[in-house]
Amino acid sequence: MNIKIGSISAILACAISSVSMAAPSTEELKKVAELAHAKFKNDNSGKNADYIPALAAVPSDLFGIVIVTKDGDMIKVGDVDKSFSIQSCSKVFTMCLVMEESGSDVILEKVNVEPTGMAFNSIKAIEHGDGRADNPFVNAGAITTVSLIKADNPTQRWDKILKTYEKFAGSKLVVLDDIFKSEAATNYRNRGIANVLYNSGNLFSDPVEATEVYTKQCSVGVNAEQLAVMGSALANRGVNPVTKERVMQSKHVPLVLSAMMMNGFYDGSGQWAWRAGLPAKTGVGGGILAVVPGQMVIVGFAPPLDKYGNSVRAQKAIEFITSELDLNIFGSTK
Ligand code: GLU
Repeated sequence: MNIKIGSISAILACAISSVSMAAPSTEELKKVAELAHAKFKNDNSGKNADYIPALAAVPSDLFGIVIVTKDGDMIKVGDVDKSFSIQSCSKVFTMCLVMEESGSDVILEKVNVEPTGMAFNSIKAIEHGDGRADNPFVNAGAITTVSLIKADNPTQRWDKILKTYEKFAGSKLVVLDDIFKSEAATNYRNRGIANVLYNSGNLFSDPVEATEVYTKQCSVGVNAEQLAVMGSALANRGVNPVTKERVMQSKHVPLVLSAMMMNGFYDGSGQWAWRAGLPAKTGVGGGILAVVPGQMVIVGFAPPLDKYGNSVRAQKAIEFITSELDLNIFGSTK
């Protein structure tokens, strides 16, 4: 091997400098979050999800940003107290529950962790592959994940989900009944997905029951602050920095973050990685939970979505904050 000592130390110096780069101060975070809010609050592009009728009725101008650091400091700007349905951001926490109960291999084996390159509710994606759901963050994978929770009946399964979410949030959470009823009355596509999975032996509880519990988990109400606190353990090796409680094993954190990086924005995941360089998960309720590993979580909330089902203003705000503070995990883009 012909590697010069000089080049090794150059590589090391580079690695060390990127690791030891000072984290932004609370004041800096606050300033940038306020700038992001001011910059995008009048951006009216995108539109509320309307395939779940109750989501179409949520005021489109709501916009909140919350940052929680690994030390538990919190920065809040805008509509951070308004409750909205967690929707697909929930998928992260149900994945954590299954990993805590049954280990990480069960996700790899029974769900898989590959991007589909197709819409979040695609049936084609299941048929296109080997019959598994592809990843825990598309609807098929999330319904499979629900079916993997160890439970004798739907009530037990649901209780475990809600308790897990409350542990991550450090507060009581409730289902938004209007959203649940509206989605449960119209979720024919998700019922179809569950049936296709069950038919090929890739769903592990009754399909009607799994879809119902999944729909309920998506209807849990959170505000931007609660969602940020829920995610904060992912920036702090599995310990919630606000409640100080360990909510997941630290060895699971990188696995969950890798799945968020690859699949968190559905068929917009590649573009998100390119623009923001952060693992994140979106929900059609308008929430986005982004993680700067080992440093902080950034949550944006605004109901109007792009064509992939991801909040427009929340994306722009998180991208702006990430770029201003040079937080891209792949390196500086300056
Ligand atoms: N409950 C929604 C659905 O199943 C979640 C989709 C999302 O948030 O991306 O369609």
